[in-house]
Amino acid sequence: MSERIIYKKCPLCNEQEINFHKTGNCSEHPLYNNKISSNIVWKECEKCNHVFTEGYYSEKSLELIFSKTNKVQKVGGPVEKNRHISSRIIEKIIPSISSGIWLDVGFGNGSLLFTAKEYGFRPIGLDLRKENVDQIKYLGIEAYCEDLENFKLKEKCSVISLADVLEHTPFPKKILDCCNKLLNDNGILFLSMPNSESIIWDMMNKNNVNPYWGELEHYHNFSRSRLYSFLEENGFKAVRYGVSERYRVCMEVIAKKNL
Ligand SMILES: [Zn+2]
Repeated sequence: MSERIIYKKCPLCNEQEINFHKTGNCSEHPLYNNKISSNIVWKECEKCNHVFTEGYYSEKSLELIFSKTNKVQKVGGPVEKNRHISSRIIEKIIPSISSGIWLDVGFGNGSLLFTAKEYGFRPIGLDLRKENVDQIKYLGIEAYCEDLENFKLKEKCSVISLADVLEHTPFPKKILDCCNKLLNDNGILFLSMPNSESIIWDMMNKNNVNPYWGELEHYHNFSRSRLYSFLEENGFKAVRYGVSERYRVCMEVIAKKNL
């Protein structure tokens, strides 16, 4: 079984010149299944310096990985703690937009949706884990077990959140294109992900304890600079940087459509 489909070009800029960057080990990862390789090969684009895995998992490998769900990704999770973290995200967005549809892609434990609803948004969730979709629907939140690429909505969204999503997707450009279509002209795109351009990242590398090289669900390690330029290349303008409270060494970025 070929478990990864190899990138022939940089997934962000299509450059064909890609170099070996380093290897990581995912055998300690909670979703690790010993039927897949524990070795992750990371590459770096010669042109845009983006760092990404040598390939993305095939459908079969994904089935093995998704057969387990991380505890923190289950609906509910540590619900009260997450409510506070989510509220601080929402409060960065409400000066720009404070009502309408809030679409959370990959809603995980559902905290951002629960909290957006409290703030007066109409929450809609997308997640590929069917169990999560069923559970959140049971709690009264509109949700779909669908890929963003196949998802259609009659009304436009005020906010789309990609909280720790972009680094999981084989081709992030497709995700931004979908968001562009689904968002209002004055809508907000919220993104969070690890930031490889931070002193803590460098320190973790030096001490050989950086967990992201062994993160089997990630295909990309974005730097803040590359994320900003990538947004720009795809019709968005980053308007606010922040430190994410969700996971270690993560950034959160608020972007608007570049009209
Ligand atoms: Zn590139």
